[in-house]
Amino acid sequence: MLISDVRQRLRALGANPAHESRVLRHWVQNLPLDAGKQPLQSWLPKAVMAELPGLIAELDGLLSLRSEHPGGDGQSARLLLGLNDGQTVETVLLPRDGVCVSSQVGCAVGCAFCMTGVDGLIRQVGSAEIVAQVVLARRKNAQLKKVVFMGMGEPSHNLASVLEAITLLGREGGFAHKQLVFSTVGDERAFAALKEADVKPALALSLHTTDAAKRAELLPRAPRLSPEDLVDAADAYARASGYPIQYQWTLLDGVNDGPEEMDGIVRLLKGRYGLLNMIPFNTAEGLPFRRPDWERARSIAAELSARGVLTKLRDSAGQDVEGGCGQLRAREAKGRPI
Ligand code: SF4
Repeated sequence: MLISDVRQRLRALGANPAHESRVLRHWVQNLPLDAGKQPLQSWLPKAVMAELPGLIAELDGLLSLRSEHPGGDGQSARLLLGLNDGQTVETVLLPRDGVCVSSQVGCAVGCAFCMTGVDGLIRQVGSAEIVAQVVLARRKNAQLKKVVFMGMGEPSHNLASVLEAITLLGREGGFAHKQLVFSTVGDERAFAALKEADVKPALALSLHTTDAAKRAELLPRAPRLSPEDLVDAADAYARASGYPIQYQWTLLDGVNDGPEEMDGIVRLLKGRYGLLNMIPFNTAEGLPFRRPDWERARSIAAELSARGVLTKLRDSAGQDVEGGCGQLRAREAKGRPI
């Protein structure tokens, strides 16, 4: 279901744009009916009010909680959520009041180190299903203040729905725009659309290597933009939006952790408006990569920072649930215990 479908239904009941906003705010922010100076009961058209409980129940019913897996840090948890057609997505409650949402079931990019891409794209997640993940997360954490689009799927391959969700979350959802993070492998259509968007999110760019040929192997169906062009496009967006880019780097033992990559990172990222998030790979059954030693990862991050590229090594808090996107879904699909 799309947010635009919800708006159309409300309009057909006599709602004007202000009514639509209030109804959507009521849903996304879990507000009581009598919140604010004008309680909804006395302000909404009667026909809208009559339909409201059913509509909210329908929106909440877009997802069902199949299983919940708390992280070792006591703050994070990975949720496996069922969609109405029997498909599943993963949503992750992150430490420090964040949530990571999925924008697709499966993914067409097929990154070699990711379980989500193994079966390709199965279906798009509608904008209302994306927002429903945030609503569910907010019911578990009323302090929620950040939404990252880094779960299953490549947001630029479901661009209209992701931007619709971002617009709603930024306008009616109570989120600061810079706390909405659009994560992409890099796509010209996404760069162009974000530049024009009313609600401009922060941007995370999955770089993973500075070598174009290696990137084509690791991210086989990502658009063929060179690492240099990707960083140029991301940097231009950062300067236009005012939010630094988060360059994402899944650290794979013996693959992208050598001295030539470190030189490449310094060449590409020094002086850019952004920071490098280095995330040691979480070993996953069936994937041919190893997690590098933590101390080694720490010294790589320290070296890069000393050479002028602000590098953050993601600490272990929540990493057991943050890493390995797609593993719960894969295990459930194979009938394994999760
Ligand atoms: Fe898709 Fe992201 Fe997985 Fe790559 S890492 S296959 S873009 S979900």
